[in-house]
Amino acid sequence: DSIVYWMRMEDLRTRDNRALAQASEQAREDHVPLIAFFVLSPHDYIAHDRSARRIDFTLRNLRCIRSSLAELHVPLYTTTHTPRTNIPSYVLSLLNEWNATRLYANIEYEVDELRRDIKVCELAREKKVACTFVHDKCIIPPGKVLTKGEKGYTVYSPFLRAWTPHLTPSKGEADPLAYAPSPAANSPSIHNHPVYGKLFDQSVPDEVDGFSLQDTEERDRIRTCWPAGEDAAKEILERFVNTMARSEQMGAVNPLSNGAKVPTKSPTKDSRIGKYKDARDKVDADTTSRLSPYLAAGVISARECIRATMQLSASKAPKVDVSRETGSGRWVQEIAWRDFYTHVVALFPRVSMGRPFQEKLSSIKWEADTAGDHLQAWKDGRTGVPIVDAGMRQALAMGWMHNRVRMVAAMYLVKDLMIDWRLGEKHFMETLIDGDLASNNGGWQWSASTGVDPAPYFRIFNPYTQSQKADPTGDYIRYFVPELANVRGADIHNPPPALADKLGYPRPLVKHDEARQRAIRRYKNPGQE
Ligand code: FAD
Repeated sequence: DSIVYWMRMEDLRTRDNRALAQASEQAREDHVPLIAFFVLSPHDYIAHDRSARRIDFTLRNLRCIRSSLAELHVPLYTTTHTPRTNIPSYVLSLLNEWNATRLYANIEYEVDELRRDIKVCELAREKKVACTFVHDKCIIPPGKVLTKGEKGYTVYSPFLRAWTPHLTPSKGEADPLAYAPSPAANSPSIHNHPVYGKLFDQSVPDEVDGFSLQDTEERDRIRTCWPAGEDAAKEILERFVNTMARSEQMGAVNPLSNGAKVPTKSPTKDSRIGKYKDARDKVDADTTSRLSPYLAAGVISARECIRATMQLSASKAPKVDVSRETGSGRWVQEIAWRDFYTHVVALFPRVSMGRPFQEKLSSIKWEADTAGDHLQAWKDGRTGVPIVDAGMRQALAMGWMHNRVRMVAAMYLVKDLMIDWRLGEKHFMETLIDGDLASNNGGWQWSASTGVDPAPYFRIFNPYTQSQKADPTGDYIRYFVPELANVRGADIHNPPPALADKLGYPRPLVKHDEARQRAIRRYKNPGQE
């Protein structure tokens, strides 16, 4: 017999992993070995617009996990399977081969994944294999934070107010921030087992067909920006919490070059997390944690991030700070956004099926004639609006963008170019290393004013004023848009036409004021020109 843990794309870690911890505990109790497996599913990656960067990051993390588990004599069997429709029966065949009595996995909340898991449970029941699916991704699981009418929240602020008390469990309730124990070792004799022993020979594939990085240059750059493994994630978290902010340093391409390694005298004041409240919207410095690739892939748990903020608490009985007034409080609020959008996907599944949350806005007229060229110019970072282009080129270069620039670039596509937000959502998923359906869809529907708690349709960002606020030094634009590297002063945000022509930088695709009027008109009267 054996106990089996099914690892998925969002829980790529061995520490503080609930399904893995429970599987390991059960294996110890039943005196049987623990087996871990991962199914690479190219059809799912196509269906979900997964980026080659994300797949490469997945494989690199799987290699790290494989060696950590091997030290505990636990095999991680990694295999590629198509078509995705018969993954449930394939999983059952593995369970059968391994004489599994129980299967454990962390829940994935997207519709396709839930349907797949329901099918797995049905098939497993016939074979008398018990299935346990565990909440792990969010700090507070979907379904726990509900309105008085027992519905999911659709506005963030009341969600946050209702979410916060759950962090402090009442008597008899489990602590939502409790650390899930690390897995225990199997007996070394497993290596001699005729079936289980062979699983150790299987290595993690080098790549998944159709998801290769372009060339060695791209591969090296992405791998330097985003090193794999739980230790790398922990180090990035520690630097964010414990080391000095160095706002003079751009260092945008290599996150590990950010943040001096000097421990702070006063973490609450000098560290990057300490300065986060005021600095987080600045893109010309190193102001945010850059943990999103690790959180999206579950290389670090969101609980671990919250626990790290508790050590900054001045009080004797540390408690999570969720206030708007401190750096760590603001940071915890961002992690609450991650919970919020995941709850929305779980409770309002239509958002993960390409539909707007606000159904009445589903008939908005998008621009058709210019859409092809304009969409391509936006993707290439050649719109003629420097802050948008810098953001889009940052995404191409490192698979990541600062939140403020994501908002500006997304709103520019939807409101200035009047291009369907779903095309932008898809491009982000295909380009970013941290692509997460819930956060990406939430961000896009916010920008398109179609989502839960969206930007009101008439409050349209002026990309030039946004640029002055977010990149006051212009360093960010100069770094990512080399044509403008020598432009000084205010021109960097909106180069005069003659200067743009001289530097070989494109002129703006549209005039912002006219585009703004068009967007307001179309949003006011969905369905009309
Ligand atoms: P920090 O500021 O250090 O925040 C810490 C963590 O909190 C982040 O790593 C992330 O997990 C979470 N978080 C922060 N802001 C948000 C937010 N607005 N919504 C949800 N979670 C948040 N985030 C993704 O992880 N994946 C995506 O695919 C994604 N797509 C986006 C698309 C658009 C159009 C927009 C506007 C935002 C998107 N975001 C996405 C949210 C946000 O931009 C990133 O999480 C953030 O920029 C990551 O940088 P960081 O780790 O330094 O964040």
